[in-house]
Amino acid sequence: MFNKILIANRGEIAVRVIRACNELGIKSAAIYSDADKTSLHTRMADESCYIGNSPAHDSYLNKEKIIRLAKDIGADAIHPGYGFFSENADFIKALEKNRITFIGPSSKSVSLMGSKTEARKLMDKNKVPIVPGTTEAIESVKDGLIISKEIGYPVLLKAAAGGGGKGMRKISSSDEFESAFEATKREALKSFANDDIYIEKYVENPRHIEVQIFGDKHGNYVHLFERECSIQRRHQKIIEEAPSSFVDELTRKKITSAAVAAAKACGYYNAGTVEFLMDSKKNFYFLEMNTRLQVEHPVTELITGLDLVKEQISVAAGNNLSFKQSDLKINGHAIECRIYAEDPSNNFLPSTGTLIRYIPPSGPGVRVDSGFDSGSQITVHYDPLISKLVSWSDTRESAISRMLRALSEYVIGGLITNVSFLKIIIDHPSFRKGEFDINFLNDEFMQNLMSQADIKYIKEIERVSAIFAAILKSKSSINKLHAGQTDSLNHWQEQMYE
Ligand code: ADP
Repeated sequence: MFNKILIANRGEIAVRVIRACNELGIKSAAIYSDADKTSLHTRMADESCYIGNSPAHDSYLNKEKIIRLAKDIGADAIHPGYGFFSENADFIKALEKNRITFIGPSSKSVSLMGSKTEARKLMDKNKVPIVPGTTEAIESVKDGLIISKEIGYPVLLKAAAGGGGKGMRKISSSDEFESAFEATKREALKSFANDDIYIEKYVENPRHIEVQIFGDKHGNYVHLFERECSIQRRHQKIIEEAPSSFVDELTRKKITSAAVAAAKACGYYNAGTVEFLMDSKKNFYFLEMNTRLQVEHPVTELITGLDLVKEQISVAAGNNLSFKQSDLKINGHAIECRIYAEDPSNNFLPSTGTLIRYIPPSGPGVRVDSGFDSGSQITVHYDPLISKLVSWSDTRESAISRMLRALSEYVIGGLITNVSFLKIIIDHPSFRKGEFDINFLNDEFMQNLMSQADIKYIKEIERVSAIFAAILKSKSSINKLHAGQTDSLNHWQEQMYE
């Protein structure tokens, strides 16, 4: 096993990895930027090292500095979390050269799956069904028009190096092709420094179903069942659950076998996720493989009883997988909500500032993976994810009741969050019945929502938060508030959020 693990990340995922290190008796080393000097992960690790200015490219994305630091402090492995360097083949290669173990897959698997066109080619060759479309980048508008006609509109133009829901454009007819082609290329170049784009059939109203897989360095593979992540806004997941209420036993068998075949095809080891779109007839198509730990891994942990981060560390150290496929079964149902500091009534604009008061929910069947606590700052520099709230129960229905109870208990003062918005979705009759697809939160839904009485609640929170912000602005920090004033703020705030 390792002696010391450097965690090349921040926020809730850094805290999650620190917890796994603590349980394994491995020393943890955190890195932090200016903005994270007093962050939870910085305080929780056995050792914390300053890495640079707040912008990510000066700190969490400074490859040379991170590797040098790992060597200086004697870390024998690096856990990348998700985002930042988690899917960066050059970073993994540099670690290989410096004899530091990367807690994740090989650079080869990451490169293979990093290009959506290469991944599609490989899957096609290995009989994993892919969304109809091209496996090569489109060279010209003329070629694209011919191919789109063959596939049949609507089609989706996608960046080969895409991620995070960016670099995708739906085209409904040939008239729209040329301008969409140019715009998608421009966006791809800007976001991913690579303007290769390809075409996929636009699958109408599918569900997003993904399979957690795990491999070790000795050629053993397992799947950890599926997760459903169809509740998305602008192609970004907000609510995830396991198992999917849509997947029956036979479909589960087929899709999990396809996922294991996908993992084998790229010689994968460590934790990975194979993502699929599933149509109303339960046909499924490979979308992409994420070669890292997913944000939504806790729902899988809760239904399998496994600790995926500890398993990642063990597999990276060269151990065999600690379980076999036949040891695994689905136990109950788990749902995860991503808690963001953002304003649903103002186009989900990130809400930055101080978490004046932070009391996460607890009680039976509730897990909160937080990166912050009272007094923490949410800044403009990083993703405004505050935490992941996860509920578990023996049935989906009772996991929903628990989630609603937990969302109602959440006390987050000083910032606008999406908690009320999440409550509305979780309590929606269609969500409760499991009748939804990736377009559930479409424009129509959002417009209806904004005109409903429910949104008044969100607007009220916004109003109160704005007053908080104004009060805070007039003080240099929460610590300087008079004790009496803080108490009355807390009291007021509690009433609003409960
Ligand atoms: P990213 O890597 O940016 O996350 P993905 O290829 O994983 O992109 O797709 C993200 C989401 O975009 C999917 O979950 C789905 O909602 C939507 N999407 C992607 N491809 C298609 C498609 N061919 N048809 C319909 N929706 C799609």
